[in-house]
Amino acid sequence: MDANDQFTESINALKETGVRITPQRKAVLMYMIETEEHPTADDIFRALSSEYPNMSVATIYNNLKLFKETGLVKELTYGDASSRFDFITDTHYHIICSKCGKMTDFHYPGLEEVEQLAGSVTAYDVSHHRLEIYGVCPECRG
Ligand SMILES: [Zn+2]
Ligand SMILES: [Zn+2]
Repeated sequence: MDANDQFTESINALKETGVRITPQRKAVLMYMIETEEHPTADDIFRALSSEYPNMSVATIYNNLKLFKETGLVKELTYGDASSRFDFITDTHYHIICSKCGKMTDFHYPGLEEVEQLAGSVTAYDVSHHRLEIYGVCPECRG
């Protein structure tokens, strides 16, 4: 699925919830689909405020909350840093820079087996798992 298909599907999902689709809402959504970063509301504000002078950090945050409720984005909270947001595509993991807080995606499909194993050895009904790797990113390593 390319960015335009993701955008159309996401807009349809939002319309089903009955919310109004404003230009600002579209802009925040497109930004989330296209970014490779895991932006905070402030990051998005910095990126879009010149194009949308009426947009506030609160507007962005409200949109992100709405997208989260609609299942379009995931809120990533690590420690007491501001929440970062990630457009939901497929299962992936994050490696997080302990110096600058940058977060990079990586895939490791083998870990889905861990859920099955955990479920079968404990008889739990497994819903999901969470894994973060920490280190120092290439930029911070200099
Ligand atoms: Zn870094
Ligand atoms: Zn991610």
